[in-house]
Amino acid sequence: MTRGVESRKVERWMFRESIKKMAAYVPGEQPRPGQRVIKLNTNENPYPPSPRVRRAVAAAVSGTALRLYPAPRADEFVASAARLYSIPQKMIIAGNGSDELLAMIFRATLGAGDTVAYAVPTYSLYDTLALVQEARILHFPLGADFELPLEAIAQARAKLTIVCNPNSPSGTLTPARKIAALAKQLDDRLLVIDEAYVDFAEENALPLLKRHRNLVILRTLSKSYSLAGMRLGLCFAHPRAINALMKVKDSYNLSRVALAAGAEALKDSAWMRKNVEKVKRTRSVTEAALRKLGFVVTPSQANFVLARMPGKNMAPVTRGLRRAGILVRHFPTPLLRDALRISIGTPAEMKALFAALEPLIKQSTAKRRSPA
Ligand code: PMP
Repeated sequence: MTRGVESRKVERWMFRESIKKMAAYVPGEQPRPGQRVIKLNTNENPYPPSPRVRRAVAAAVSGTALRLYPAPRADEFVASAARLYSIPQKMIIAGNGSDELLAMIFRATLGAGDTVAYAVPTYSLYDTLALVQEARILHFPLGADFELPLEAIAQARAKLTIVCNPNSPSGTLTPARKIAALAKQLDDRLLVIDEAYVDFAEENALPLLKRHRNLVILRTLSKSYSLAGMRLGLCFAHPRAINALMKVKDSYNLSRVALAAGAEALKDSAWMRKNVEKVKRTRSVTEAALRKLGFVVTPSQANFVLARMPGKNMAPVTRGLRRAGILVRHFPTPLLRDALRISIGTPAEMKALFAALEPLIKQSTAKRRSPA
């Protein structure tokens, strides 16, 4: 008790008021080492990365290489990205996952009271990063079919605007022509497009980079390239924006191992494409099967689907699945309590999901129908 009071007193002078008040970001559950689960809760790829990655990692840890610091500007990884996407190296910066790049962008653009705008529901890390900066958050609700409220967002003219595209957790994509229109309207304000899931979608915003100097595009190797554990992200923007981000970056933000893996992974984008096609096929089978069970499913352009049972709390179903060894994501917010976000796994994993899900849904709808 006294200890609690004392530690609160200590906290009072140790930390900023805003940090004391804010809640931490809550990542999706990660299983303990050795725990066997079907993991459909954090949108990882169910297929392994290119075998070239394993060879590159082995080479990176051999001999005495790890004695030395890694390349501070991630030269080889960035060169691989420049070749693959036909974008000059001076327009690319690498991050320890795109989460780090987001943190760098927030740090470089937002001071206390500055505005940041995005549509919700979306990736909740944006809120966390904004609160750390003591920025003023402008939330704009997505439309009934999760369409982006473009006009409202454009008119807010926030210092920083973010569009998660495809959006999480809805899986919906705002077409590139609308992104271009928004970039034009925002003119001298920064517009970040978080394209973490874009390899699973029909189009992307990279071709717009040449025409819009205020555009910043984020990619990750965590999803389509099956490298969530390696922590590799890329940011594409005007060289002036890249220079600003370089100033707030940790000196050696990516390890030698990650850099070697990233450079090789991008050289084998054919491997990634093959896996993405498999995920997309499983995605359409999954969407149909969920609809058959009575879920409302918005067609997804990502490697997950959002399945809703309007008016019904999905928390007990999530717990039931967990007991069956299957992790899916449920967000305990009013807007999403009737929804499950389910990552696309292998066909066998999805079969196991439906074997567990069907009785849970039947049970809960039977309960609802029975007289009180
Ligand atoms: N953006 C979105 C929308 C995401 O869902 C994620 C993954 N949680 C990220 C960025 C971060 O990905 P990473 O840090 O693994 O690159």
